[in-house]
Amino acid sequence: MRKRRPNHRLVKIHRSYTVEEVARLFRTHKNTVRSWVKAGLPTCDSKRPLLILGRDLAAYLKARRTRNKRPCQPGEIYCVRCRAPKRPAGDMAEYQPITASLGNLIGICPDCEGMIFRRASLAKLAQIRGELDITIREAQ
Ligand SMILES: [Zn+2]
Repeated sequence: MRKRRPNHRLVKIHRSYTVEEVARLFRTHKNTVRSWVKAGLPTCDSKRPLLILGRDLAAYLKARRTRNKRPCQPGEIYCVRCRAPKRPAGDMAEYQPITASLGNLIGICPDCEGMIFRRASLAKLAQIRGELDITIREAQ
């Protein structure tokens, strides 16, 4: 049977992957890879097709394994590159709606300056925002 947890060691960190290539690499479905992206896997989203850096992919998969050990506090967003919860730079984050009730909290990691993401429901935003200054982006 297929292994449930993708092995981050299969990823070559110096190359970039399309969603299809990642799916092939782990013999998984493209939608699984897309769900990782939605859950915070960083992409070079100015480009089409979507490109995922090997380095980000490996860090993301590794972080998924250890994430539960270091849960985010209110006002913190997990940085997959630093593998630690971070308070976003400037204590600022943007809430980007995915659906009417759910979205991503997006900030900048103060240490590596990468984008950091946290899934947030609109209903729980008040609880998880801590002291962050949050801008709510209009749904597109
Ligand atoms: Zn970072």
